[in-house]
Amino acid sequence: QQPGDGVLLSCPCRMLLLVNPQSGKGQALTLYNSQIKPMLNDAGIRHTMLPTEHQNHAREFVKGADLSQWDALVIMSGDGLLYEVINGLLERSDWEEAIRTPLGILPGGSGNALAASIHHYSGASPVFGEDLLVSCGFLLCRAAVFPMDLVSVHLSSGQRLFSFLSLAWGFVADVDVESEKYRHFGSARFTVGTLVRLASLRIYRGRLAYLPAGSSTVLHRGAPLPVQSCPSRNSNNSVTLRRTEGGPPDSLLPPLDQPLPDDWVAVREQDFVLMLAMHQSHLAEDLLAAPDASLSDGVIHLFYVTAGISRAALLRLFRAMEKGTHLAAPCQHLVHAKVRALRLEPLSPKGVITVDGEVVEYGPLQAEAHRGLARMISG
Ligand code: ADP
Ligand code: MG
Repeated sequence: QQPGDGVLLSCPCRMLLLVNPQSGKGQALTLYNSQIKPMLNDAGIRHTMLPTEHQNHAREFVKGADLSQWDALVIMSGDGLLYEVINGLLERSDWEEAIRTPLGILPGGSGNALAASIHHYSGASPVFGEDLLVSCGFLLCRAAVFPMDLVSVHLSSGQRLFSFLSLAWGFVADVDVESEKYRHFGSARFTVGTLVRLASLRIYRGRLAYLPAGSSTVLHRGAPLPVQSCPSRNSNNSVTLRRTEGGPPDSLLPPLDQPLPDDWVAVREQDFVLMLAMHQSHLAEDLLAAPDASLSDGVIHLFYVTAGISRAALLRLFRAMEKGTHLAAPCQHLVHAKVRALRLEPLSPKGVITVDGEVVEYGPLQAEAHRGLARMISG
C-alpha cells in the first residue's frame, strides 16, 4: 500500500452493515450481536444493520440506494455478498462516484478470502474463525481506507462483470462448487472438498494467454485512468472516456473472438489441472495463494497447474499453500506469472468457471486489472 493512502474516515461516521444470516454456519446475526455491535458502539461508530433476505437483495439494494447517507458499506458474510455489492455499485449510472464508497468486510461466511487477505496485509500473524472476525472488527473501527484493485471480466455471452478476488477453472472451481454442500463446516469446507476432488482428479484441455505485468502496451489509448483523476468529458479520447454505464472501459483487451496482440504470452494448448488468477493474497482463510499480492498492486497473480502432476504432489502444493510456501518448493507442473490481463479458452466440453467463488457461464473468458478502482477499509 502506497504512502499517503489510507485516508481515515471522518468521525463520527455512519456505516451500513449488510449481514447475510444464511452465510457460513448461519451464525452471522448472532456474531453481529455478540461481537460487532458492542465493538462499533464502543468505537462511537453509528451504524444501521440490514439483514439480507435473499440472493441479490444486496445487489439490488446498493443499485438503488442513496449512498450519501453512509460513509461506508460493510458486508458481514462470505465473499459472495461483497461480489454482489461491488457489481451492484458498478451497475449504477453514477458508478464512478458509487465505486469510491468505502467498503468493509467482516468474515461471516464459509469463504472469507478477502477478510483473510486484509488481516494478512495488516502484518498480524494468521488467525481463523471468530479471531479473524474480531481482527477485522478492529480494522473496521480504525476505519483507514485504501484503494483496492478490481478486475473486469468478459464472458462469451458478452456479459461483463467485476471481480475483486479470483478467477478459477478446473480443480479450484470444482472444489468451490462441490464444497457448497459442506458449507455448515465453515471454512473447513474447502479442505474437505479438496480431499474429495483429489480422489478423482480431472484434467481439462484449453488455451491460456496473458499480458505480463511488465508490459506497457495499451490497445485503446486514454483508458483506463486512475479513478481519482478520471474525467468524464473534454478529453482527446472523449469517445472512450464518456462511456458512463457499467464501469471503466478496458484498454488492453480486443474483442473476445479477435486475435491477441503480439506482446501477449500464449501458453500452448494442453491439458490443465487448474487455472487460478488471484487479485488478493488469500484464496480461503487458510490458503495464502499469492503471498506477495497487495490490495492495489494492479497485478493479477496467475497460476496454472498442467496435467501429469501426481495426486501426492498436488496435495503437497495445497498443504504448502496453507503457509504460502508453495512457490519456494519447485514443482515442474506449477507455473506462476504476474499479469495485467489474461484470456482463457476452455476446450473440454464441460467444466466449471468461478469468479470470486461464484459460478459463471462456462466458455472463453478474458480479464483486465483496474488498479485501485474500489475503496476498502483495510489494515
Ligand atoms: P458463504 O461464504 O457462506 O458462501 P456468501 O457471502 O458467499 O457466504 O453468501 C452466499 C450466498 O448467499 C450469496 O450468493 C448471497 O447472494 C446469498 N444470500 C444473501 N442473503 C441471503 C439470504 N438471506 N438467504 C439466502 N441466500 C442469501
Ligand atoms: Mg460464497
